[in-house]
Amino acid sequence: MQINDIIKIIFWMQILPCLAYCAYAKGNMYPLDSKYIKYEELNDNLDKIVQINPDLAQKRIIGFSSVEYLPIYALQLGNKNASEAILIIGQHHGEEVIGVNIAFTLAEILLNGYSKNIKQQHLLQRYQIWIVPTLNPEGFRIVSSGILKTKRKNNRDTDNNKKLDLRTDGVDLNRNYPVFWDLDPETDTNSPFYKGSEPASENETKAIVELAQNHNFVLAIFLHSSISGAYNEHIYLPARINNSELFQKNLALARTYADATKKDYLKGNYEVFEGSTSEVGNARNFFFHRMKTPAFLVEIGGKNKRGQSIIHPPNKTLIKIVDKNVNALLSVFYKLDN
Ligand SMILES: [Zn+2]
Repeated sequence: MQINDIIKIIFWMQILPCLAYCAYAKGNMYPLDSKYIKYEELNDNLDKIVQINPDLAQKRIIGFSSVEYLPIYALQLGNKNASEAILIIGQHHGEEVIGVNIAFTLAEILLNGYSKNIKQQHLLQRYQIWIVPTLNPEGFRIVSSGILKTKRKNNRDTDNNKKLDLRTDGVDLNRNYPVFWDLDPETDTNSPFYKGSEPASENETKAIVELAQNHNFVLAIFLHSSISGAYNEHIYLPARINNSELFQKNLALARTYADATKKDYLKGNYEVFEGSTSEVGNARNFFFHRMKTPAFLVEIGGKNKRGQSIIHPPNKTLIKIVDKNVNALLSVFYKLDN
């Protein structure tokens, strides 16, 4: 072999892994990249956040998951005696993990900013801010630990065959709330959208219903990142749009989020979808129609130029997405606090 050939081989040996990485880096990474929070880290991460400012942060367990009895954690931030509360749920669907990272970063920023930023100080004095990083610890554990890339539902043995079929079993927690449940036709237990055997049949949903009944939530936001790619970078309002004052307030808050958030891969900002949305037992319908709380869902995952849905981007993109959405959440809180 000539010296030129050896140089060529060395060149390609160095360049090929780089090319492979670059192609990969624009898409999804699974197992998840290193900055994604894992199920096993939840408890320690919550403890670390509480330590930033123990007077303003409490770790709570608001319930246990339906099958494995995993704790459903929440952070209660701000003034414990405040009459008004805000709720952020980072995750309902197991593979939609970005919202879990957003939930933790939001808590860190709120607590770190308390002594420096007068607007943040006011937020934590006026409101209790409840942050539930994941409402679906069973699905989150499977996806974050590298067992399976997509696991939307909890681990309920919905076909009753006495074993867990990871790809088909489970209840879609965002179809299980006690509102419009009868209107949802999805009774196929294997469907990714299976609504459960009855309204609030699942412990996870019950935990949120109870939380809602015990606190005066004035705003509730739910973070998602749908793998289908069809809904990405949009904000979804409760069903049955109308001209009521409550609905207009809801719309204004959703628009504030959209205006503050640039799309990740395409041009422009997030958009509020103003067409009619599903009359099913989802969280935003429950909060808006049952609790009279402004509520909306944010679909975070981006779509790249090839039309591929990206919900597990590499660290660098993840961090950008998290920062952007935390800023958007703060903008919505400030708007509410006006
Ligand atoms: Zn979702």
